[in-house]
Amino acid sequence: MSKEVFLCAISNISSGSCAEDCGFCTQSSKHHANIKRYKYKDINEIVEEAKKAKANGAVGFCLVTSGKGLDDKKLDFVCQSAIAVKKEVPQINLIACNGLANLEQLKTLKKAGVELYNHNLESSQNFYKTLCQTHSWKERYQTCLHVKEAGLKLVCGGIFGLGESEEDRASFLQSVKSLDPFTIPLNFFHPNSALPIKVNPMDEDDALKVIKQVRDEFPKTRLMVAGGREITFKTKQNKIFDVGANAIVIGNYLTTSGDQPCKDIEMIKKAGYEIALWKSCSS
Ligand code: SF4
Repeated sequence: MSKEVFLCAISNISSGSCAEDCGFCTQSSKHHANIKRYKYKDINEIVEEAKKAKANGAVGFCLVTSGKGLDDKKLDFVCQSAIAVKKEVPQINLIACNGLANLEQLKTLKKAGVELYNHNLESSQNFYKTLCQTHSWKERYQTCLHVKEAGLKLVCGGIFGLGESEEDRASFLQSVKSLDPFTIPLNFFHPNSALPIKVNPMDEDDALKVIKQVRDEFPKTRLMVAGGREITFKTKQNKIFDVGANAIVIGNYLTTSGDQPCKDIEMIKKAGYEIALWKSCSS
């Protein structure tokens, strides 16, 4: 495996007030977490964030919205945002992450310049029932199939450290394998007192074993450590690359702050890895 690490940044372009009940998510209105809520971020602000991400070395920029999925207004807003970012920052791979989506909606995003769509299975089909009652794992899987049918690259992973069993992890990985994603994001639960799931962050060595397990199953796929990196791996963040991660999210997450990108870049270089340069993910 090459010693390159891919950087990606995310922008929460529509935050909070989600009617779904995902037990791990502070954006669910059912949990009343103390987070920033806004309907739509100003598009100029989104473009500025994309410019900053590019300047920090990000090869990908993800437009994330809260909520179960897309409606006409939200789809239009994501498309307008995508067009504006592509115009000002053409050399960045554009990802959208907007929940459940049908084929037509995904084709519309593609026309607006979106190249990849992130939709996570989150966990095994069985365990997911304990995490969310307002929509089903099957609907999530179906959206992933639509992503591929629409000609977008699929970004599909999940979240660990919620109390799932080894069997759940194995089952989840087999489901992800059946979708053959371009990138697999690995999130690690970031506890919040407002959430119904009451567990501590995963032990860093156990979390490193999870990355290794995923890498063993997916020798060639891009593995991105996303949310929960800092709180889970603490002083062992530099070890995530040795066990198989080759991408990280830099900057802030959806509702929590990340480290300074320059600090992450320094950590990557000190660990003996290089920052991957941008090239179109369609080439
Ligand atoms: S994960 Fe998505 S659908 Fe679930 S509560 Fe959070 S924003 Fe809503």
